[in-house]
Amino acid sequence: MKTSKFTAVVFGLLLLGGSPLRFSCQDVTEKRNDFVSQISQKRIDRYFQDIIRLSPRPPESEIFRKCRAYLTNTLKSFSLNVWEESFTASTPKGAIQMANVVAEKKGHSDRIIYLGSHIDTKIIDGIEIQGANDSGSSTAALLELAGVISGQETRFTYRFVFFDGEESIGINMNENDGLYGSKEHVLRLQANKLISNVHAMILLDMIGDKSPAINRDLNSSPELYALFAACCQRLGYTDLCAGTSSYMYDDHVPFLQAGIPSIDLIDFDYGPNNSFWHTEKDTAENVSIKSIFRLVQTVACMLESFEEKQDN
Ligand SMILES: [Zn+2]
Repeated sequence: MKTSKFTAVVFGLLLLGGSPLRFSCQDVTEKRNDFVSQISQKRIDRYFQDIIRLSPRPPESEIFRKCRAYLTNTLKSFSLNVWEESFTASTPKGAIQMANVVAEKKGHSDRIIYLGSHIDTKIIDGIEIQGANDSGSSTAALLELAGVISGQETRFTYRFVFFDGEESIGINMNENDGLYGSKEHVLRLQANKLISNVHAMILLDMIGDKSPAINRDLNSSPELYALFAACCQRLGYTDLCAGTSSYMYDDHVPFLQAGIPSIDLIDFDYGPNNSFWHTEKDTAENVSIKSIFRLVQTVACMLESFEEKQDN
């Protein structure tokens, strides 16, 4: 839908003097969307504390089911359309029941922007991994984005996906072990012939380090990284895009393999030399809510940019 037509519709409604509108004509014509200023650090903190209380979350655990229920209820409170995608994953330890949580906000167009985070936590025998950063930080971030976007008039349709089974069941991730939820979701997109409707996929993972620096993932789409870097500049968060270059294998890969432009926003340097990753040090004390907040604002800036561009 083009700006001019949209403006005319809004102006018409104002003239009729009927329904109360959230924004003025001036807002619509000069500044269509302002997502960044609506991101709240306080809310992110609340979501994060809620998620920490529901940790750790190994697959098939009771606490994982409770976390899914918490996510579903919270997303429904934003008036989003929410569903669970249950499936059986074939893993090195046999069949495991898994479920993604998906929430959708319809826009004026059927073009879809995906935002994703995994919700499972890594299991390693003999180690208690709370998973505050991996995956509590990105799960809290995704809830905040869902809450803010759900209240907006948008051109794009937005899908927020909370993936199960990102972590491998064996020690190391490989082609056959890990990314279970994202692979399943992309299979369903293919079955429903929706791949060509997807405009972009933004994945968040491990975004709560106290000295955040998002990696330049060489698997991710360069144009999306350029947009991310431009938003870091706009917000004055240049440290955020100062991470090293590397190839990340994460839940964005099945989307990339299906031909969908995708980016993984991950800070794969958690604690000194990534020493907190997949250890008992991945706790709430080692996570900065401020870091999550700044990254969420940067993603909100990317979404504003998608909404403002007229050629999509
Ligand atoms: Zn992990």
